[in-house]
Amino acid sequence: MTMRIDIATLFPEMCEAVLGESIIGRARKAVKLEIHCHNIRDYSRDKHRRVDDTPYGGGKGMLMQTMPIYDCFEAVCAMTKTRPHVIYMSPKGQPFCQQKALELREHEHIFILCGHYEGVDQRVLDEIVDEEISLGDYVLTGGELPALALVDCVSRLVPHKGFELVVSA
Ligand code: SAM
Repeated sequence: MTMRIDIATLFPEMCEAVLGESIIGRARKAVKLEIHCHNIRDYSRDKHRRVDDTPYGGGKGMLMQTMPIYDCFEAVCAMTKTRPHVIYMSPKGQPFCQQKALELREHEHIFILCGHYEGVDQRVLDEIVDEEISLGDYVLTGGELPALALVDCVSRLVPHKGFELVVSA
């Protein structure tokens, strides 16, 4: 069995730097775990590759545009011909813990959405997100560090024997 994790982020280099090191890096040859990082900006329809927008229903701050997120998600679904389990990293989500990591390792395919700015539009949460997970009761700048902590923890639980880890952009 292969486990696949796709990470949708505005900072793929930040994720890849960590994913090639530590437990995940050491496990590369032993574990069949595919991790792909996607730059949400690549799916921007704006000529300046903007990915932020004012909130649809009003409110303070900027949100991530919905279309680049949908397009990135659809591209992954089309590429893999599966509908992954979708996690949005959020300070409002349920706290991450070892039991949650054990549950997540049962999924063959996980798609992790890393938020930025003031987060994502409610329509994204309603339409594609299966669960929101928080790294802790504090607010970070983006979802990358929480996503990496989650991936690190889950990857330790994926059986090693006969598996091979693939990290690619
Ligand atoms: N007011 C926003 C909210 O309550 O969601 C804060 C957004 S925060 C500045 C930007 C992004 O960082 C969030 O969309 C989320 O993806 C991520 N983030 C921040 N703190 C987090 C935490 N404790 N756990 C998981 N993700 C977090």
